[in-house]
Amino acid sequence: MRLIGLTGGIGSGKTTVSNYLTTTYRLPIWDADLYAREAVEPGSPVLKQIVDRYGRDILLYNGNLNRQKLASLIFSDSSERTWLEQQIHPFVRHCFVNNIKQLKAQKIQNPDGNPYADGVLVIPLLFESQMTDLVTEIWVVYCPLEQQYLRLIEREKINFGRLLTTEEAEAKINSQMSLAEKCKQADIILYNSSTPAELFKQVDAAIRGQNIP
Ligand code: ATP
Repeated sequence: MRLIGLTGGIGSGKTTVSNYLTTTYRLPIWDADLYAREAVEPGSPVLKQIVDRYGRDILLYNGNLNRQKLASLIFSDSSERTWLEQQIHPFVRHCFVNNIKQLKAQKIQNPDGNPYADGVLVIPLLFESQMTDLVTEIWVVYCPLEQQYLRLIEREKINFGRLLTTEEAEAKINSQMSLAEKCKQADIILYNSSTPAELFKQVDAAIRGQNIP
């Protein structure tokens, strides 16, 4: 099995790489962020834990989690963030494990599947959540800190019409393990400081097992 764990910093380009891998190489992509959202859906045990801890004010009128409110509660409090991650990560891990099991079963039936890899697990907190054992290789998407700021601010403006302050962007970025530390533990580093085309050339080489240009 070849299972790629794709990680990086906030706004460093993980989604850009995973979109390219699925459109160009038809690779199955699983995204930890989607599972993390599923973990807190109405009726889930995790949402119940969150309500028990923070009260019903943490919900929107329709019963969904008020994600913005929760984010502001855990933003500046690392112990609360750790608590929340401890609630969510086991569910995310369970989803990945199930997917890998299914994939293994499919591979026995159809050994000539995708020639490049079996799947890509996009896990922003791959190291922090100790999920490295799920994958067979680790790719880190790197971009310089200044670019991370600019991309984050730009995206927040486009998606939410909100102007993120430099302090907010900095706090978000600093809430994760540093990108330099992640790079030290990577099998492959994809440098995303130029154009998407330059990034995709590196992805092409990495997926084909060639030297990265
Ligand atoms: P997050 O962790 O916040 O989900 P991410 O690592 O998945 O972020 P992307 O969503 O791929 O990052 O990229 C962040 C933003 O930067 C997006 O708006 C994307 O279009 C843009 N972007 C990524 N790479 C480049 C590039 N090489 N040139 C210009 N813009 C880029």
